[in-house]
Amino acid sequence: MEARIDLGGNEVSYNWQRSRRRTMAITIHPERGVVVRTPNRTSHKSVEAFLREKSRWILKHLERISNRQSERESIRWTAGALVPFLGSRLVLDVRPHARRTTAWRLGERLVVEIQREKKSTASKTTNTPSETDPKALEAAVETAVTQWYREQALVRCKMRAEYFQAHLGVRPAQIRVRNQKRRWGSCSSRGWVNFNWRLILAPPEVLDYVVVHELCHLREMNHSARFWNLVQAVLPDFAQWRTWLRQNGDTLSLETKAFPRDGVDGDNQQSDDIHPDAQGFDNASEPIPEENAKTPHDQSPESPIQLEMQL
Ligand SMILES: [Zn+2]
Repeated sequence: MEARIDLGGNEVSYNWQRSRRRTMAITIHPERGVVVRTPNRTSHKSVEAFLREKSRWILKHLERISNRQSERESIRWTAGALVPFLGSRLVLDVRPHARRTTAWRLGERLVVEIQREKKSTASKTTNTPSETDPKALEAAVETAVTQWYREQALVRCKMRAEYFQAHLGVRPAQIRVRNQKRRWGSCSSRGWVNFNWRLILAPPEVLDYVVVHELCHLREMNHSARFWNLVQAVLPDFAQWRTWLRQNGDTLSLETKAFPRDGVDGDNQQSDDIHPDAQGFDNASEPIPEENAKTPHDQSPESPIQLEMQL
C-alpha cells in the first residue's frame, strides 16, 4: 500500500509491502522511491517508528538520487554539449557523415560523425536523424560516444596496468573493460582483471587507483593490511582517490535505467551504508561470470570499489 510520512519536515511517500519475511527493510529505488518491506503482522505504528528511526539515512539517499538524476538529465548528446572525460570535459562536435559513424578526440573537442540515414528506400535523398527526429540523433551520438569511451577505457587501463605491473611484479592474464553496474573493477584467481569503462570519466588518478587495487589482488586476493600496504607502496596518496570514488562515483553513471535495487536491512542497526539487494541486481547487461563473482575480494562488503555503496 502507498502511504506518506513526515520526516523532519519532509513529506515522504513510501510503498509498504507485507510478506512472510521476518525483518523490516527499507529500499530506496531510483524510480520507485521508498519501499518498506515488513512481516505480515507489523503495525502501521511500528513502520512509522522504523521510518523515523532511519529518517536521516532515507533523506540523505533521496537527496542523492535527486541530485544524480538532475546531473544525468543535464547531459544532452547534442553539438556544443560538455561531456566528461578523464575528470575534465570535452565539447561535443556532431557532424553528419555519408558512410560511417565514429568518434575521435581533437584537442578539447570530441568529434562525433553520425552516418546519414536514408529517408526511405524509395527516396534518393538522405538525411541525418536530426532532420526527422532530434531524439534519434541524440541516441545515435550517445551510442557512438559510449563506444568511444569503452575503447579509450581499454587502452588506458591496459597502458596503466603495464606501467604499474612492473612495480608489483605481477602480470594479469587478461585485461578487459566491461559494462559493470556495481563494480569499478574485479580480479579473478585466474588472473583476469576487469575494469568498468566509466573509469575513463573520472580523474586519471582514480583510474590509476582502481588499476593498482586490482593488480595488488594478483598478489593478495583479500583486503588485508598486507593488501593495503601494497597499494600504498605503489600509490602513497591512494586514500584520497578511494574517497573520491566513494563520494563521486555515482556521478559517473550516464545511464538512466537498470539501476540496482539497494536496501538497508532493519536488523543491521550499525549500518548506514547500502547493501546490494539479493534479488535486485541481475539487470547488468553483462552478468559477472561465476569465477569473478566468487573471488574473495568481490564478496567483501567492505570493498571500496563497488557501486552499490554509492547510491
Ligand atoms: Zn579489492
